[in-house]
Amino acid sequence: MKRVTLFCMLILALATLAGCGGERDLAFSERYTIDADLDPDGRTMTYTQRAEITNTGADETKELWFHLYANMYKGLFHTEDGDVLVTSVTDGAGTPLGYERSQEGVLYRVELAAPLAPGETAELVFDCAVTIPDLERKYGVSPAGDVQLPGFGLQLAVYDENGWDTDPLQEEGDGRYARTADYDVTVRVPAGYVLACNGDEMAVSEGEEKTQYRYSCRDRRDLVVIACRNYVRKERQAGDVRVLGYFDPNTAGVTEPGMDQVMDAAAFALGYFGERFGPYPHDTLVVTNAALGTNFAVSMEYSGLVTVYFDSESTDFGKEMYAFHEVAHQWFYAAVGNDENREPWLDEGFAQFAGYLCLEAAGSDWPAWEISAVAAGAEQVKDDKVDLPADEHPVYQWGVYDRGCMCLKELMDAIGREPFLAILKEYCQAHWMGVATTGDLVAAVKAGAGTDVTEILEKYIQN
Ligand SMILES: [Zn+2]
Repeated sequence: MKRVTLFCMLILALATLAGCGGERDLAFSERYTIDADLDPDGRTMTYTQRAEITNTGADETKELWFHLYANMYKGLFHTEDGDVLVTSVTDGAGTPLGYERSQEGVLYRVELAAPLAPGETAELVFDCAVTIPDLERKYGVSPAGDVQLPGFGLQLAVYDENGWDTDPLQEEGDGRYARTADYDVTVRVPAGYVLACNGDEMAVSEGEEKTQYRYSCRDRRDLVVIACRNYVRKERQAGDVRVLGYFDPNTAGVTEPGMDQVMDAAAFALGYFGERFGPYPHDTLVVTNAALGTNFAVSMEYSGLVTVYFDSESTDFGKEMYAFHEVAHQWFYAAVGNDENREPWLDEGFAQFAGYLCLEAAGSDWPAWEISAVAAGAEQVKDDKVDLPADEHPVYQWGVYDRGCMCLKELMDAIGREPFLAILKEYCQAHWMGVATTGDLVAAVKAGAGTDVTEILEKYIQN
């Protein structure tokens, strides 16, 4: 804990020295091409990532900042070096570029050979070596052999009104903050492995020793690859969207009826949220079982892929509820982005709320609202504001998920169900494939409420 605090101060000092002030007009579009060799048995992956960064702002820049989020899963808390090591950075012509790593491999600053002027595109090439650890939270390989590699690639940091996002990661929450980007991904795996990615599968070429997979990932807020020898593949159609399931029957709790339950739930949620908040933005949604660690599993959302925890207890709506929550993140996180460090409630509180609506629509009588209301009113959090940064909530789960959910529920009860959901739909459309803040939500609510909701906003929201 102490070490993390020292790092925060160092990074803050570096950010100040680097002149991150937000006064410059910088904006970017990004496109990435990744070519990788994954060896799950040898616990390694090497890849080359080509980044094309176009300056769409009005000012030039001499530096670009990147996040390598895979290193937060293990690196921030356990090891000095992260699990993904950047071994070289060059420009498109192969000339080495200067770079610095910080935050234990989560943050990289690259110095460009010449300033990048408005309208120009910089080409950078990163060579990286990945060591795949035992499953730690969401990253690594499980005892059953499920490989999950979220955030293994570099992503340009967001440049917003605060300048480059070099904020130190918080211990609570998912920690990401990114724009959407396009990725072309090629991965070779030893024959016998089944691979999936949060994109559209474009080609699979089977050789004697290796199988090569190619993916096109458009407008994705992150990148994740999963692999396993034993995946059972399932498929559903939800309107125009293809739902592809990859499930490892060797993982405890993953049963054939369970797979079908999760696939049906994901397809149902896609239809429900699509109608409520705008159509799902991709052709494919990939669903997989959450890899099971020695004593934990984490359901998780990525842009176009969700992992769902198969609890072995026979609660009526257990798996469905996890599926609904994670699919809801396709709207609140993936389509409408937010800073998961500064305002995690904008995706977690919303996914909790939307997941409960979906649960009701699916016919569950599980008392979800009542359970969240009790947590939201608990002594430790009863005065907690939902829009605080992740680490400032006395109890993260109750403050972010439950109070966030109850804030939206109370607004819905005051404004009326249909008018409030119409406000949320408008909020989604206004920030579709962009980034939203609590201020954006408050403005949308005030504009559309038709009644005075000041008391509810003041009860839950600080700004
Ligand atoms: Zn969530």
